[in-house]
Amino acid sequence: MKKIEIIPLGGIGEFGMNCMGIRYADEMIVVDAGMGFPEETPFGVDISIPNFDFLEEYRDDLTAIILTHGHEDHIGALTYILKKFNLPVYASRFTIGLAEKRLEEHGMLNDVLIHRVRANDVVEIGNFRVEFIHASHSLVDCFSLAIHTPIGTVIHTGDYKIDDTPVIGKPYDLKTLSRIGDEGVLLLLGDSTNATVPGRTPSEMAVIPAFEEIFEQTEGRLFVATFSSSLHRLQIVFDVAHQFGRKVCVCGRSMQKNVEIAEEQGLLKIPYGAMVSLGDARALHDDEVCYLVTGSQGENRAALWNLATSTYKGMEIEKGDTVVLSARIIPGNEKSISRLIGHLYKRGANIIEEKRRLVHVSGHASQEDIKIMVETARPKYLVPIHGEYRMLFRHKEYVKNHVAGYNDDNIILIENGNVLEVDEFACKIVDKHELYRTFIDEESLGEIEYDVVRERKKLAYGGAISLVVTINKATHEIAGEPQITFNGVAGIDSSNGFMANARTAIRKAIGDMKREHIVDRNFFKENLRILLKRFVQKEIGTKPVIVTTIVEV
Ligand SMILES: [Zn+2]
Repeated sequence: MKKIEIIPLGGIGEFGMNCMGIRYADEMIVVDAGMGFPEETPFGVDISIPNFDFLEEYRDDLTAIILTHGHEDHIGALTYILKKFNLPVYASRFTIGLAEKRLEEHGMLNDVLIHRVRANDVVEIGNFRVEFIHASHSLVDCFSLAIHTPIGTVIHTGDYKIDDTPVIGKPYDLKTLSRIGDEGVLLLLGDSTNATVPGRTPSEMAVIPAFEEIFEQTEGRLFVATFSSSLHRLQIVFDVAHQFGRKVCVCGRSMQKNVEIAEEQGLLKIPYGAMVSLGDARALHDDEVCYLVTGSQGENRAALWNLATSTYKGMEIEKGDTVVLSARIIPGNEKSISRLIGHLYKRGANIIEEKRRLVHVSGHASQEDIKIMVETARPKYLVPIHGEYRMLFRHKEYVKNHVAGYNDDNIILIENGNVLEVDEFACKIVDKHELYRTFIDEESLGEIEYDVVRERKKLAYGGAISLVVTINKATHEIAGEPQITFNGVAGIDSSNGFMANARTAIRKAIGDMKREHIVDRNFFKENLRILLKRFVQKEIGTKPVIVTTIVEV
């Protein structure tokens, strides 16, 4: 009897970079291909993606990529996986709209086979029969997946919350979930992002009263910063602005693009004449305009950052402006948001954030949403996904303590690179792979080798010493003094004699070397590097990067 294998490439024990391989009978589908944003932003790297080279051993098995929804942490790495494995992609219309934007940036739009699916569609992909379940989330057109195989059904929740009154679209489709639950669910892979939060996640509608109050009370210009993908929120801003006689001006490239796609697809309903260009907006009175801006996370190049620190297309934040930060703080962005708020205060703006008014609700299932999910699907096994280990753990603890029939044996915690095998008799980790993340250079969008990042780290901690030795081509003897330069190395200054001592040590070492060890230039170069490395360590106790160059004359 064959088993189903669950192989997470990302998104487990970390925030972002969601990607999951699901394999049965020599066929494998991949659910989501997301980006991550390394919290420590190591050495010039802002973006990471799963290590897709790992999938090489499954190359012949791979059949499709399925996207649950269009958030960056679910589709941001799509182009990178497609460059390695040209697979057909299945996604909703809006998700495709967002994904196509990325494919276009990478010049890949015409090379990829994309299948548009709707909620309740069932698609046959080899041995898998994938059923798309309408899910509510902070984004729209999202799915949970029921992945049917001959030996049982796996449900992948995607990101979700049980929203009974979303602003755009229908509530979470519990009816379909319940039907699938009745038919029998082997395994549930469940979103854990908010598993530490008690109660139910408020509906997207819940922020309307606070927005109405703000629009009613504000006399000056209003700036609302939110995620460009938070369509429910954007709709609310358009509606409330219209209600209080303000026109909306959309600033920031991603916000403009998303508004355009969403309006085109009929998801966002903008009252006639309610949206104005920047030029028209600036001609309006302060109490007649609302700017919808990107940059709620303090991102350096976004509209709000420019408005707060310099200018955005000739406009800046001034005394009397009100700025609403209608988004949560993504872990790792605390410092940049704090800096942003500082700049806004400096310019005399009034700031309204989540802590003071209900201007933001989460898009993820809180504990009681999770309870509804598990009780409706009634899976034999539960595996918490999407979140840091702390959240996965609390997901498990909560379900154990609040849903009958669940215990340590049927809730399994896994990690990226694990291979989890499941059938109706057992669910267990059978293999563990070490997965290194892949880093992306934000400027070129190319991959950065792991070694490069390691080298940068060494440079940052230890600095660099460069040694140039000149050798006579004919005699293989040293010609002139060895040249030593250094950058960012602690413990060296021009007066403490280190440089002179190092030069002497190098000269002496070369003098002691056998001729054939100098004739072999590679050997010679590496020997010099080790020599200087030991010398530096002994003398000043640091480990800089050492670069040696041999010049022949
Ligand atoms: Zn999401």
